[in-house]
Amino acid sequence: MTRRTPGIPSEAVARLEDRLRQPEVRPEEKRKRAGGVDEVHILWTSEGMSCDGDTVSITAAMQPSLEDVLLGAIPGLPKVNLHNKVLHPSLGGEEFMRPFHQAANDQLDAPFVLVVEGSIPNENINGDGYWTSMGNDPATGEPITLNTWIDRLAPKAWAVVAIGTCATYGGIHAMAGNPTGCMGLADYLGWDFRSKAGIPIVNVPGCPVQPDNFMETLLWLLYQAAGLSPMIPLDEALRPTWLFGKTVHEGCDRAGYYEQGDFALDYNSPKCQVKIGCWGPVVNCNVPKRGWMAGIGGCPNVGGICIGCTMPGFPDKFMPFMDEPPGGRLSSTMTRSYGTMIRKLRGITNQTVNKEPKWRHNNTELTTGYDPRWSR
Ligand code: SF4
Ligand code: SF4
Ligand code: SF4
Repeated sequence: MTRRTPGIPSEAVARLEDRLRQPEVRPEEKRKRAGGVDEVHILWTSEGMSCDGDTVSITAAMQPSLEDVLLGAIPGLPKVNLHNKVLHPSLGGEEFMRPFHQAANDQLDAPFVLVVEGSIPNENINGDGYWTSMGNDPATGEPITLNTWIDRLAPKAWAVVAIGTCATYGGIHAMAGNPTGCMGLADYLGWDFRSKAGIPIVNVPGCPVQPDNFMETLLWLLYQAAGLSPMIPLDEALRPTWLFGKTVHEGCDRAGYYEQGDFALDYNSPKCQVKIGCWGPVVNCNVPKRGWMAGIGGCPNVGGICIGCTMPGFPDKFMPFMDEPPGGRLSSTMTRSYGTMIRKLRGITNQTVNKEPKWRHNNTELTTGYDPRWSR
């Protein structure tokens, strides 16, 4: 019999009790019902023009950690096999290369996510040599260029992810005057590229990538492979919208100083750094809000100017790094004109609210304004 609970309709209570009586559906069962995959390989190449900084960064991830994903500690995820030359438990060499060859030959036993780290050089202009390679061709013994690996693997991948700004947009290696013709993955494959599962290239920029930003993106894709999450939402630069939808400035600890027109003139100051080179107001990045490791850090919060490392225009459009951004000069001048006045007015109000009301005393007279007639 359904109990009566004051204020809650008895039908609603009955529905809830009925639902509680149903056996709990385990995440693995949900995955099966959704037609999701049980196992995924991650083929991770850092053989682009790269410093391996993004691979190293991932070792600091906590939301989730790489270990939790690989050890199956997160409910509902497919089994994940990681193939990364630094993070992989194999001995390297041919053993490391085997799954890449298998994937290229359609012999891998499960779908794979291709992760590309590092800028992609243009092998059409490599002269008599090559810019960068990974492993050798078993038939010829010749090095296999990164371009060839991308040509072979990207069309067969369940999803393709670019990690770090070098892989996403070209980064430092793609600066004006570079000899390699370096570019980002979308410049190479085409911005309208779709993976085997119909997913656009997923860009997770940063130099290096913020570790939890990458792991959270990977988690979304793994849940999508499991059939438990919808299509990953991406912006025009192919970045996950929930991570890159806000500016650095909107999450910066120093934004209150900016608003009051109070600017740092050297790097020892806790004030807003726009006059000494910070591009935060126009850069999409969540690092000041999220921090770097375990919520700690986040460039401008801890004294570093934002140099726009997550942006397609990085680095050329943000140089010279230590100079005041041109737009910053105009906006900070305008902010200073009213911010100085607001700061003074707030100073007066601040002094007022720092004092207790005058009726709190130990005298013999009540001065609170209490009037017994009010209670009648
Ligand atoms: Fe290194 Fe930065 Fe390029 Fe990543 S984006 S490979 S950290 S230079
Ligand atoms: Fe904005 Fe940079 Fe100033 Fe922070 S330091 S408030 S991001 S301009
Ligand atoms: Fe890069 Fe700026 Fe974000 Fe720091 S705050 S990670 S410099 S975009």
